[in-house]
Amino acid sequence: MTRDELARRHKAYETERAVVAAFGYSPLLLLYGLVHTKYLRPYVPESKGQAVLVMIVIPILWFALLMLLHRGLGPLRHKLRCPACGQRFVGDEYRATLETGRCVRCAEELAGTSVTPLA
Ligand SMILES: [Zn+2]
Repeated sequence: MTRDELARRHKAYETERAVVAAFGYSPLLLLYGLVHTKYLRPYVPESKGQAVLVMIVIPILWFALLMLLHRGLGPLRHKLRCPACGQRFVGDEYRATLETGRCVRCAEELAGTSVTPLA
């Protein structure tokens, strides 16, 4: 994997992450929008505890679950892992790997990243 390829894969991962985040947020926004209309208002539970559960806890758990799933599966899908040790190249690990051309955990060199001085 070259640096360009790593950067391209990471960009695809980040784009997908934004889509997943929007998909995670949308039920929350939809819920808050619709609760002020005649369509959803009758379905909001009378009990304050149940209302908090339905309006806040469940949507936030949904969002957290989606983001955790993407954090686990996204690097696999986009092959953002060290071929030698399996280290994920996201966040700080991605930036360090892109900068040095080496895996941050096992120092495996990415193919085509060695810096050769010009003759
Ligand atoms: Zn490694």
